[in-house]
Amino acid sequence: MRVTAKLSPATAAAAGAGLRWSSVVAFKRRRPLSCYRWNQLSKRTQSVSSSLAMHALELPVRQNIGTHASDVPLETCFHYTPSQLQSCPQVESIAQLVANKTKSKKFFFGIEITADNHGKPTCVDFNQFLPVMPTFISIVWLASYWNVPIAKVQSLQMIQQLQQHIPAMPHFSVYRLTQQRLDEFLALNLSNMLAVRGDKVHEDQMYHFGHELVKYARDKRPDLSIGVAGYPMGYTKDQTETQEMDRIICYLKAKVDAGADFIITQFCYSPERIVEFLCAARRAGVDKPIMVGVVVPESFKLYALMETIANISLPEQQRAELELIKQDDEKCRQFFVQLALRTIKAVLEADQGVYGIQFYTMNRFKSVLEVIGELRKQGVLETPQQDDKF
Ligand SMILES: Cc1cc2nc3c(=O)[nH]c(=O)nc-3n(C[C@H](O)[C@H](O)[C@H](O)COP(=O)(O)OP(=O)(O)OC[C@H]3O[C@@H](n4cnc5c(N)ncnc54)[C@H](O)[C@@H]3O)c2cc1C
Repeated sequence: MRVTAKLSPATAAAAGAGLRWSSVVAFKRRRPLSCYRWNQLSKRTQSVSSSLAMHALELPVRQNIGTHASDVPLETCFHYTPSQLQSCPQVESIAQLVANKTKSKKFFFGIEITADNHGKPTCVDFNQFLPVMPTFISIVWLASYWNVPIAKVQSLQMIQQLQQHIPAMPHFSVYRLTQQRLDEFLALNLSNMLAVRGDKVHEDQMYHFGHELVKYARDKRPDLSIGVAGYPMGYTKDQTETQEMDRIICYLKAKVDAGADFIITQFCYSPERIVEFLCAARRAGVDKPIMVGVVVPESFKLYALMETIANISLPEQQRAELELIKQDDEKCRQFFVQLALRTIKAVLEADQGVYGIQFYTMNRFKSVLEVIGELRKQGVLETPQQDDKF
């Protein structure tokens, strides 16, 4: 196909940085290919390199950027429902979806995945979620993307595919971000962004706070749906940071005041602490929709991995209970399924206008699906009239 579209300076710069015209132009358009074309493509079972990780995990930075960028078309392993294959999402803005669901007081959920899994495919079979689909999907931003040409970043390529079938949001961090790079990202014209500072910081980077990214993006793209991160347990990664609630909320408010549309919280194993955070945020005037982040580790090993890296632990007594069953993966899995259910119940009962949960899946769905199934049984999660409409 010959392309004659006029490109913005930033997009042209991206092209000048060695990108193929086809990929640049594909990003530029909201719907790069007809849904039909994408549907045909996505029917193929494909594989993609992804990593067993979530946003809270600091992944090893790879020297070989070829694992995150490639000249061959991205291969994915997504299996869509018949309804997803028939029609595109009616609403692309996740801010709008989250606001609508929150306003109608309907419980909803999203899922977070990562695009890289140390060579193993990141597979998502959306049929598993039927009859209640995730409202959206988000993909973690890895520090190692910082010098990958923007159109070749795996997570962004995946978003490009996914958004034909489900509202999709890339995380985007300021790690080693330059002005040119940020303008290139915004020129992709994606509908959504989760703006984060990132786990890693480089002394030369342009921004050091999430609110700086939000402000610039909001000014440049008033239409962009922007989510930011909230921290019930504080900024646990850094021991020198204050974990004092007032300060945590003050920093959150700075991001909201800079133009964020909604908030997703870091995982936290204490329902009481989450509710305390929600109440404090509301008291401080944070009136944007909040989604609570929930993780459901499938084994003690996965729990321990996150405990080490994110520096977030179970409350003491529960930690001791877990210790007694740590050799038994199934018992551990059930422990976290029940904790997730208690957390969600506490959040809903807190009556702080929170109706959404974001599941940090770590590309594993067994426990998340069990929690969702239980929420349906309990009537918390309503089954829509049509099979899987958003
Ligand atoms: C839902 C969610 C998704 C995430 N996704 C990713 C991801 O994809 N990739 C990734 O690398 N990381 C991700 N993270 C982790 C996140 O990048 C780290 O937790 C990071 O340490 C903080 O990022 P932030 O944008 O929330 O930072 P901010 O809230 O901006 O805080 C950054 C630092 O600055 C300080 N600070 C904040 N505001 C102010 C202020 N106004 N004045 C003075 N100091 C201030 C804080 O104490 C903190 O130390 C995610 C976290 C969450 C909760």
